[in-house]
Amino acid sequence: MEATTQSNKAYFDDLKSVLAGGCHYNFHTSGAETPRFFKHGEGSYLWDIEGNKYLDLNGKFGVMILGHNHPSYNEKVGAQLNKVLCANQTDNDLEACELLKKHFGSMEMIRFGLSGTEIIQNALRVSRAYTGKNKFLKFEGHYHGNMDNILGGKYNGASPPTPLDVSSSPHSTMGRAANIVENECYLIPWNDIELLQETLNHYGHEIAAMIMEPVMINGGGVAPKEGYLQRVREFCDQHNIVLIFDEIITGLRFGLSGAQGHYGVTPDLTVLGKSIGGGVPVSAMGGKKEIMQLYASREVIHGGTFNGHPLGMAAIRSVFGILEGEHSSFYENIKKYAEEIKSIMETTAAENGLDLNVSIFGSALVFNCCSEPFGQSHELTTDIVIKNSFVFTQLAKFGILLCPMNRIFLNASFDDTDLEFFRENATKGIQLAARLIDKIYSRNLVEYMKVGF
Ligand code: PMP
Repeated sequence: MEATTQSNKAYFDDLKSVLAGGCHYNFHTSGAETPRFFKHGEGSYLWDIEGNKYLDLNGKFGVMILGHNHPSYNEKVGAQLNKVLCANQTDNDLEACELLKKHFGSMEMIRFGLSGTEIIQNALRVSRAYTGKNKFLKFEGHYHGNMDNILGGKYNGASPPTPLDVSSSPHSTMGRAANIVENECYLIPWNDIELLQETLNHYGHEIAAMIMEPVMINGGGVAPKEGYLQRVREFCDQHNIVLIFDEIITGLRFGLSGAQGHYGVTPDLTVLGKSIGGGVPVSAMGGKKEIMQLYASREVIHGGTFNGHPLGMAAIRSVFGILEGEHSSFYENIKKYAEEIKSIMETTAAENGLDLNVSIFGSALVFNCCSEPFGQSHELTTDIVIKNSFVFTQLAKFGILLCPMNRIFLNASFDDTDLEFFRENATKGIQLAARLIDKIYSRNLVEYMKVGF
């Protein structure tokens, strides 16, 4: 790819004067480095304005499940531009709904939005209307968008379990509406069935909805304990609580039926986003007819100028069509690549004296710099986060982009050549990261400064 005359650094300096912080989103953990500004993508690769090539295993936070510039996706979604770009309803709507319902049997009726954040707020509203209760219960480490009522929080270890805003957390923010968290939200650690039961026995009568990532990808990469999701399902039935699975990441990562298909547990409502659009912003919520009926009866409002945007509907048709057809072997093929990546990372780290483990969740992987996968988000200590960030940063220097700070999203275009690129460069990146971590932890900061971050 031809380089432009401008460097990432110079572009960033100019951009910062007009785009706040020079970036489109910010959490406390992000922004340590000069961002890379991309001008071209192809398959698993991105090229920045300096002409550098990167293996893109971030895929815009897991969105790009088909890879970049996918020919049949582009053809199908591009064709929509020439048909009708924007109108209230189009001839894509029925097939988009039917495809979601076919694969996610729990989504008996559906509504669409643009982002995960907004569709989750709508799911909470309809749950309140359905149950006549006000609060929701969420779990430590799970991420459900950027809104005041649901962003971040730590377990307070007390009763009631009102989330604590800990200022060192990446999700702590100024400007939150007063008392909104206290009024709406309870939070407990995930994967602790006794604590959940106890909490519901006390507060189940106040709780309209329980929301979780059925596999906690955001809070460190933790699978549900054996039988946990099944018990959760039972508890929600007992206490008349709407069970919401936030499958915005997991949706198309295990297969075409999400984590719910993988674990065989049926939520009342499902929210989807990211990869269902393959790069076009679109989100969906769907679930039990009797809940979704509240929209049909107009008792619950759902607004949004761009809801059901034709490009989003065409994108859903395209992504599902391609994963059912041209790339129907994706989920089978990707197992081999996921295992290889795990083995390369773990072996290289071990050879260089660094504890590192990789968990595989279908086509999503999460690594952590500790010897064993953990079972709770609070086991993701600052120490591990710092070490992870070294691996993340060094891999980027060797041309491998991961999703901050420890997630790896594979795509349907990933092939043997990409695996070899990964092998060659990840090995070097992990070696260097291990060396830097060793310097820091042995407090040899002088040596560390020589090697550089
Ligand atoms: N839920 C989960 C599980 C997510 O990972 C995200 C985004 N990272 C969201 C909700 C919010 O989605 P969006 O960024 O599209 O608002």
